[in-house]
Amino acid sequence: MLASIPSASLLGATGIPVRVEVHIGKGLPGFRIVGQPDPTCRESRDRVRAAVMSAGREWPTKCVTVNLAPSGPRKIGAGLDLAIAIGVIIASEQLPLGTVEGLAFIGELGLDGSLRRVPGVAPMVAVLGDVDPVVPAASIAEALVASQRQVRVASTLGEVLGALAGLEPWPEATVDDDAVDEVPIPDLADVRGQPVARRALEIAAAGGHHLLMVGSPGSGKTMLAQRLPGLLPPLGRADSLAATMVHSAAGMPMPRGGLVVRPPFRAPHHTTSTIALVGGGSASLRPGEISLSHGGVLFLDELGEFTPAALDGLREPLEEGVIRVSRAHARAVLPARFQLVAATNPCPCGGGPPGSCECDDVARLRYTRRLSGPLLDRFDLRVAVQRPSVDDLLDAAGGEPSAVVAARVAVARDLALARAGRLNAELHGELLDLHARLSADALAVLRDEMERGRLTGRGYHRVRRVARTIADLRQGRAGIGSGRGDIELLDVEVALSLRTRIRSTTPGLVA
Ligand SMILES: [Zn+2]
Repeated sequence: MLASIPSASLLGATGIPVRVEVHIGKGLPGFRIVGQPDPTCRESRDRVRAAVMSAGREWPTKCVTVNLAPSGPRKIGAGLDLAIAIGVIIASEQLPLGTVEGLAFIGELGLDGSLRRVPGVAPMVAVLGDVDPVVPAASIAEALVASQRQVRVASTLGEVLGALAGLEPWPEATVDDDAVDEVPIPDLADVRGQPVARRALEIAAAGGHHLLMVGSPGSGKTMLAQRLPGLLPPLGRADSLAATMVHSAAGMPMPRGGLVVRPPFRAPHHTTSTIALVGGGSASLRPGEISLSHGGVLFLDELGEFTPAALDGLREPLEEGVIRVSRAHARAVLPARFQLVAATNPCPCGGGPPGSCECDDVARLRYTRRLSGPLLDRFDLRVAVQRPSVDDLLDAAGGEPSAVVAARVAVARDLALARAGRLNAELHGELLDLHARLSADALAVLRDEMERGRLTGRGYHRVRRVARTIADLRQGRAGIGSGRGDIELLDVEVALSLRTRIRSTTPGLVA
């Protein structure tokens, strides 16, 4: 007899509908899976068999053939276990075919018959179509977010079979208490002193500018970077859904409501492999850190210590907001639009107190050369971060809280979006001329900087974008204007004051 059970597999952060066809026929007892299962999927035989017997059902002593249709895409992981088990039980006439009508099944089985969470339930459920998904209880939050249909859950194969047979009701589909409570984003009020870096963070948040911080160890670069997500608005609908799919596909803990709403913050270590950073690798083309930071912040500490291959992998997402990963015959496009915040020491020894650095020019040059080129060009903002002074550290008052800064950021972002339909960091070429006009004296200052060789052509564009954001923040604070006013001299002066050179001895690093 033949059974055909709807389920799904995963590629990147996208589900692929799969039909699990189980045929039980005459011949020597055996079990085989066709239709491109990956090794984990092929091993489902052992898990499914033990789980079926643990659930008190018989394993057919006949020839069992499982076909995963369509045959083209590779089926990955253990998420088809439940559908295979149900198929075997139906095909061996231990349950009537009608009991599974209108249902689809996703989940991994343990040998004891337990039903376990698998990565990617959200994107898999999203492609099921007109059937009600049955998923592991631990996947309830992400399934509810992605499905338009009634979601059913169970913790064991036995519960599923009991409910299908009408012996027991379906277990209640309530959000699991184990779902992670989101850790609060650290607040800017905790940061003592650091007026320049705080200003830079606010401007980065308001304009969407990528930010490079240069400073000695202990100057608080990581602490500052962690506070950027708290200055950004919640994710819009599209980004929120995309981020949710990515987090689900990566098997990350999901927020309590199931939907990723807060801008993510990811801080991979410089020893992270290129695959873990950009994604791919396994047959499922797993999302990397750059996709997990979609809509939020990717923080790369000690930027120069990342391998050239890893840094090169950032190029496409920084330009296009997506990453294309491929392996063998599979390709996937994953979302990867993030705000890049990077930190670096000023030199190999880390700089330390003024005058203590003994690095020679060759060592410094070798150190900073790793950062040169197109990647460095991406940072509109490059600021020096100093260690807070003793007075700052002893100041009990603390700084302005994130909520206050975030309110100003929101106003400035609205001005930019209303004016150009995009954040200021995305103003290039003609758009820059159209939306970032300079007053006469502001232009004169920049012209002077360029004539003195202190500002390159690219640097001129960067300063202009940053000055546009500074002007938006100023106008927003004053409650004036539509964001269409010119950039004033003051805005340009602030933008120029925020720039840092990593070392004057290293040409190419001048902003
Ligand atoms: Zn040094």
